[in-house]
Amino acid sequence: MIHQADLTSRKPNSSFQAMEWEDRFGAHNYHPLPVVLEKGQGIELFDIEGKRYFDFLSAYSAVNQGHCHPRIIAALVEQAGKLTLTSRAFYNNRLGQFEKFICELLGYDKVLTMNSGAEANETALKLARKWGYKVKGIPENQAKIIAVSSNFHGRTLGIISASTEGDSTRGFGPFLPGFVIIPYNDTEALAEALQDPTVCAFWVEPIQGEAGVIIPDHGYLAAAKNLCDRHQVLLLADEVQTGMCRTGKMLACEHEMVRPDVLILGKALSGGTMPVSAVLADDDIMLTIQPGEHGSTFGGNPLACAVGIASLQVLIEENLADNAHRMGKIFRSKMEEIRTRTGIVGEIRGKGLLNAIDIHPTGNTTAWEVCMEMKKNGLLAKPTRTHTIRFAPPLVITEAQMLECCHIIEKSILTVS
Ligand code: PLP
Repeated sequence: MIHQADLTSRKPNSSFQAMEWEDRFGAHNYHPLPVVLEKGQGIELFDIEGKRYFDFLSAYSAVNQGHCHPRIIAALVEQAGKLTLTSRAFYNNRLGQFEKFICELLGYDKVLTMNSGAEANETALKLARKWGYKVKGIPENQAKIIAVSSNFHGRTLGIISASTEGDSTRGFGPFLPGFVIIPYNDTEALAEALQDPTVCAFWVEPIQGEAGVIIPDHGYLAAAKNLCDRHQVLLLADEVQTGMCRTGKMLACEHEMVRPDVLILGKALSGGTMPVSAVLADDDIMLTIQPGEHGSTFGGNPLACAVGIASLQVLIEENLADNAHRMGKIFRSKMEEIRTRTGIVGEIRGKGLLNAIDIHPTGNTTAWEVCMEMKKNGLLAKPTRTHTIRFAPPLVITEAQMLECCHIIEKSILTVS
């Protein structure tokens, strides 16, 4: 039954009205900063009233190429006028092109395309189990996957079954069995967990983004890969947030010259235009899944493929990994200067343009207050934990913009302290 409604569906006439409608008609599963965005270009965003902000979140690292990158939008518009979805019941002329492009670029035999980051992670878990039974010979229904504490891989029931975060898990049980949780950045714990012959995979983020940009010791990933190889266990690297040049290399695993057995990508694979995710692996792993055993109506749609190719081309041709590396260094050195000048900044950490600062947990100031003040001063960032703010601008940021933004951050911190 259709209820009485204004079918012309007018837009909200103010930020206040937009927030009121979201609050009234939308589920309350987020706690956004009170800003209503209407337009974006490069690293800039504009709210309904026309106020300009610098974006220091990039939609959780999904907009690495900058908002509405002209080349990505052109690819999107061109393909949208031709063909958007066929499902995988038929071939389409863009999927093979995308698959060839990304496999050759990243050096894998095969790719499996999905939509969200969570779906790509679910795919990797299923792939690992299938491989565990078919190739490693683990007895049926006994495969285990090692995950780490404070992980974040998405919101599906399968994924949160390995979560150690109360907010993610509270009230959602019963959970999927088959996970072993060990501390992050702990090779000894990994070596011990790998003694179990029913383990098929070790599932890890190269840097934990949602946990507050937690960077493991250099050598951790390489040691993990080594241990996994010795025990015939797959290394599943979730690079949904760290991939696509965010940390100063195309993949964060490259910092340790590690090639994961299963690579999980999402977010900036579409330059922030639509959900596009992918899982890459070699034939011995990927071909354990046969027709009919896994899929998605939208996965590998021609629109996503056209956008995916353009998004990767922009990252490479505009040298965004190098820019992330250079701008990240400037950012961290400016933050160090702020730390020495103010009492409220604690640890500063990051790689490339995935950075975080801790607001001194002993003081009265919270990360939320700092974010509100930065918003007032024209810069948008979001707390990841009570005392931590993540700073992850689009990778197209220039040095002049970075310096201006660091000035806003300093001014805001000084005001709230
Ligand atoms: N994996 C990591 C490392 C993430 O940071 C995220 C999202 O923040 C996801 C997976 C989930 O991606 P999505 O929100 O597209 O499902």
